[in-house]
Amino acid sequence: MTVPSPSDLPARPSEPARPEPNPPRQTPRPGVPLAQLIKETRLFVVDMDGTIYLGENPLPGAWAFLQACQASAERDCLFFTNNSSTTAAHYAQKLRRLGWQGPLPPIVTSGDVAISWLQREQPQARVCLLATPSVTRQFEAAGIRLWSEPAGPDDSRAERPDLVLLTFDQSLTYAKLARACQAIREGAGFVATHPDINCPTENGFIPDCGAIISLISASTGVKPVILGKPYPETVAAIEALSGVPRSQLTFIGDRLYTDIACGVNNGAHGLLVLSGEASRADLAGSPVQPDAVLPSVADLVPWLSQAAAGAQLQR
Ligand SMILES: [Mg+2]
Repeated sequence: MTVPSPSDLPARPSEPARPEPNPPRQTPRPGVPLAQLIKETRLFVVDMDGTIYLGENPLPGAWAFLQACQASAERDCLFFTNNSSTTAAHYAQKLRRLGWQGPLPPIVTSGDVAISWLQREQPQARVCLLATPSVTRQFEAAGIRLWSEPAGPDDSRAERPDLVLLTFDQSLTYAKLARACQAIREGAGFVATHPDINCPTENGFIPDCGAIISLISASTGVKPVILGKPYPETVAAIEALSGVPRSQLTFIGDRLYTDIACGVNNGAHGLLVLSGEASRADLAGSPVQPDAVLPSVADLVPWLSQAAAGAQLQR
């Protein structure tokens, strides 16, 4: 796993920096026709910002796409976001605020992947968690053993943390950073929820988890295990949560190096939509190539309706 180096930081503050992509696959994957891709898919793993909405505006046809998924007996969808600054409940409220009135699909964040990873790999670990209050409550509710600062030398919590887990902590303070770096220097493991360097907001970019990784790594010399898209732990967590094998998962999103790489580099599929960050021009120079490209999720609706009609005819 890679940590963004200082040279990856943006030349200008207004420009997004990108994490290093995963290495390209050894053999190029031939394009899969869209009808076949849809036939092979049981679960669409759908990105949100740039795919379903842009900031506070739903993208045209996004609700029709959700309706078509939910009307289909053969395929379903869930939402996945790398943003671990908040919980699924926040995104559910946002979808309602933007006008989605149907049943809410499951919503999974890279924080959920971290919980799933901790439960599987480090169930006894005392975790020094860098997270917002709502995400901290989510980890507590999941039974994760959270380390907290000892009140004094006789405090039983004086044991050191076993690992530092960094999320997109928008309540980060210098004291928290210093404590985390000290724990890592003293031998605690270092895990981060996702590699995104900048997060787009209505007012421009703000530093995301990847930028905080760079700071901690510069101080400690330690590179973290990174979860979230595009890493295999995300695919494993979605398989475990949904029961759908990776060969029947299609990641839909607007970023080649996270959404699409997560699918195509980990035994699942990747469908790029051009409604957010990536453009057709980006495809030419990209080591990550999607299985299919569409202008937006609205363009999947006729294909889903056709697949549903075909399935009915076969019954
Ligand atoms: Mg996106």
